[in-house]
Amino acid sequence: MSIRVEPVTASRWSSIDFDDLPFGKICSDHMFVIDYKDGTWGEGVIQKLAPFSIHPANLALHYGQSIFEGMKASKHVDGTPLLFRLDRHAARMNASARRMCMPEIPEDIFCDAIRALVDIDRKWIPPGEGSSLYIRPVMFAMDEFIGVRPANEYRMIIFTCPVGPYYSQPVSLLAEDFYVRATPGGVGEAKTAGNYAASLYPAQVAKERGYDQVMWMDPYKFKYVQEVGTMNIFFVMNGKVYTPDLNGAILHGITRDSILYLLKDWGYEVIEKPLSIKKILKSYKKGLLQEVFGTGTAAVVSAVYKVGVRGVEMHLNPDTYKIAPALKEHIEGLRKGVIEDKLGWIERVESTIATVI
Ligand SMILES: *Cc1c(COP(=O)(O)O)cnc(C)c1O
Repeated sequence: MSIRVEPVTASRWSSIDFDDLPFGKICSDHMFVIDYKDGTWGEGVIQKLAPFSIHPANLALHYGQSIFEGMKASKHVDGTPLLFRLDRHAARMNASARRMCMPEIPEDIFCDAIRALVDIDRKWIPPGEGSSLYIRPVMFAMDEFIGVRPANEYRMIIFTCPVGPYYSQPVSLLAEDFYVRATPGGVGEAKTAGNYAASLYPAQVAKERGYDQVMWMDPYKFKYVQEVGTMNIFFVMNGKVYTPDLNGAILHGITRDSILYLLKDWGYEVIEKPLSIKKILKSYKKGLLQEVFGTGTAAVVSAVYKVGVRGVEMHLNPDTYKIAPALKEHIEGLRKGVIEDKLGWIERVESTIATVI
């Protein structure tokens, strides 16, 4: 697969303050664009990141046929950009596409586009500890038609944003007992736009009640934990690590998968099954709830210091956590190339495209 490259003539790089990077607001110089028409993907192009126009009847705007991915390029201590489990992101993009009746993108196109984009904008990876280049692939319907049906035409864009450390502070969670994020059989497993739109109002209500984020519960009785806004969730109780099983309503986090592997490798007893809030409360009351943390690409691991459950508050002390910081350190070590990558999770992006200053 060939990608046409139209480099910018002047980079915006020197005008950016890399010590002050608001998350997701600053984009690097280039984007990758590819269109799907008449049943096939056309030629992929790397070009200057710029706005483009869409028709008022754009089907994605009306009915939400839109999916995305989120991953990060980090920097090896020798300066080479590194990608983490790229194949898994490609596979998940296509799982989301299938659920939303959208065309799959061949994995080699998806992966090569990301390699080329990171290559050409490699100097945009910030140097600071915990900083990275956030990579955002997004695919959406392009039909100009306001009937409800799957579109015939699609566009996929991939662009990147330099980001500093994300969510470095511990967070508080409110166990939801009214709103729902996802139900088995729904679209909770897909990284599709509507899931996040649906979460905004409950998140706002949780904020007004003094919590950073919502902890989503099962949609039937609000008894079983699902996950957090953009993170999967883990509980350490009496030395054992618990996380809800993937029941059709939980996003298949790649960080979650990596952490489950590492924990088992380190000899922890890991339990993946329906996890009731009652069990967690009981464990807390006995003094056996040791750690609560969320996992996701953005923050890797986020410690939780407080969980609200129907008027009861569980208070935790992240300073005493052992497993969460060890996991974060290990994954960040892999992402910097200072811990040996025994599992083939890390890929180096060698320089093949001349960059513009
Ligand atoms: C993206 C996402 C996650 C985390 O997935 P990672 O692959 O670990 O980044 C968890 N939950 C939701 C709802 C998400 O959108």
